Amino acid sequence: MVITIDGPAGTGKSSVAQKVADLLGFDFLDTGAMYRAVALAAVRRQADLNDPRELEFIARHARIEFDWSAHPPAIQLNDEPVGHLLRGAEVTAAASRIAVVPAIRQQLVEQQRQLGQQRGSLVTEGRDQGSVVFPDATLKIYLDADPAERGRRRVAQLRARGEIVDPAEILRQIVERDQRDSGRATGPLAAATDASIIDTTHLTQQQVIEAIVKLARQRMEQS
Ligand code: C5P
Repeated sequence: MVITIDGPAGTGKSSVAQKVADLLGFDFLDTGAMYRAVALAAVRRQADLNDPRELEFIARHARIEFDWSAHPPAIQLNDEPVGHLLRGAEVTAAASRIAVVPAIRQQLVEQQRQLGQQRGSLVTEGRDQGSVVFPDATLKIYLDADPAERGRRRVAQLRARGEIVDPAEILRQIVERDQRDSGRATGPLAAATDASIIDTTHLTQQQVIEAIVKLARQRMEQS
């Protein structure tokens, strides 16, 4: 059984997906971390982010795995735990650049489908999980929120980590990333036609989690 949670940056997808997975006893798959891990490999090799062939080559040699015994599952790049290296500005910007390359998407989409089969019960979050990767998912959620509110949340998150940030710059980066994610030809950020859309602008994280768990339990009973 698969539950997909898609949406733009700063909607709280990751924390919500993790908590929903815990409450339902499902595994949690952070597909953004997979794109970020490929981006880290590209940044380390000082790759030309405008050269899809070079990026594709790097992705083919990037073995991305999760340690499922960790909570949340810990991402590894060629056996190295890299979770703590994926959230900086450089890797974040590079992730949305490498994510436009169709061959890289194809590679990661295939791997995500395999994980779906191997893990059995999965809450997976990203941009294309309901629309492309798991078209037959039991429940599809699309989280959205005002860009200004998403910017505020991201600023709070970064400040909580002790970073000094410029709110206007964070909002600019979010809008730029949204545009790139929605505008790409392959696997763009999009709500599946059968997704339940939740606007989280005026909701607490707890309310969003409760709404999704309720929908999930209804679907589980139906099936
Ligand atoms: O979700 P997160 O912010 O970690 O994703 C980083 C980047 O990876 C996104 O901006 C997007 O370009 C890309 N991504 C994607 N498809 C996914 C998950 C993430 O294209 N399923």
